[in-house]
Amino acid sequence: MKNKCADLHIHTTASDGTFSPRRVVREAAKRGIHTIAITDHDTVQGIPEAIQAGKDMNVEVIPGVELATDERGVEVHILGLFIDWENKTLQDTLKNLSVQRISRMKKMICRLAQFGMNIEFEEVLELAKGGIIGRLHLAQIMKRKGYATSIAEAFNKHIGDRKACYVSRYKLSPEETISLIYHVGGISILAHPMLLHREDIIKDLPKKGLDGMEVFYHHQAKETTEHYEKMAKDYGLLVTGGSDCHGDGKDQVLIGSVKIPYEYVERLKEYKESMSGKNIHY
Ligand code: AMP
Ligand code: ZN
Ligand code: FE
Ligand code: FE
Repeated sequence: MKNKCADLHIHTTASDGTFSPRRVVREAAKRGIHTIAITDHDTVQGIPEAIQAGKDMNVEVIPGVELATDERGVEVHILGLFIDWENKTLQDTLKNLSVQRISRMKKMICRLAQFGMNIEFEEVLELAKGGIIGRLHLAQIMKRKGYATSIAEAFNKHIGDRKACYVSRYKLSPEETISLIYHVGGISILAHPMLLHREDIIKDLPKKGLDGMEVFYHHQAKETTEHYEKMAKDYGLLVTGGSDCHGDGKDQVLIGSVKIPYEYVERLKEYKESMSGKNIHY
């Protein structure tokens, strides 16, 4: 096939996306995307269904995960691609992170109530349908109940980082996350660097073992992409790209809005091959 392309950052109903893993694969196939990475927050539960659907619909599915890390109070998102998603240490760590989300969600619900926005924890559970619970579920309920006119407004006014109803949650450090990903044979990628607004933090990550950077991202100015492309080159980082699609959970369907040439996937695979020759001591 000519001009194969990939979208390496997609969420499903296993976390806060609104498309099931099978639906994600179907949407990718419809848009002529050859390869996708499933990168749910703190969970790998969507991966088996996506892999099976990928076989059925001839879409290559890369198992991944997205972990929010904490670097001196700043939230740094790191993707793990090509992870051994069945690894027990990984699954135990993810379980711990997801359990910690429960008390945090309850605290956020209390804060919202103080501002006259009444949401029940059960409503969040119902929307998440057994998947990881998070702020995007809360934003969707706020919109439905008329507490916000859009998802963006819910975040900008109430639940975005450091807003009045925001409560932080337990996170690993970037080092811990990078080494966890390495331990399970994965490639660690800094997600959406342009959302970080902290180049000092970005420039420290390669020393901590970061493998790559998500240079291509949705709705990003050409100059921004070029800027991060150059930075990746200067720091010897691999380059990836993805839409960060959450189904229609963020008011628009983004899958396929970023399509990177398949050569980038080939480079990741070559890197993974070269890694597997190394001795890993833990
Ligand atoms: P959580 O993991 O519960 O902290 O929630 C993270 C989710 O909220 C991810 O899907 C983020 O992309 C989303 N998110 C964070 N900040 C914003 C924002 N300002 N606008 C829209 N979505 C956001
Ligand atoms: Zn999300
Ligand atoms: Fe993210
Ligand atoms: Fe994401």
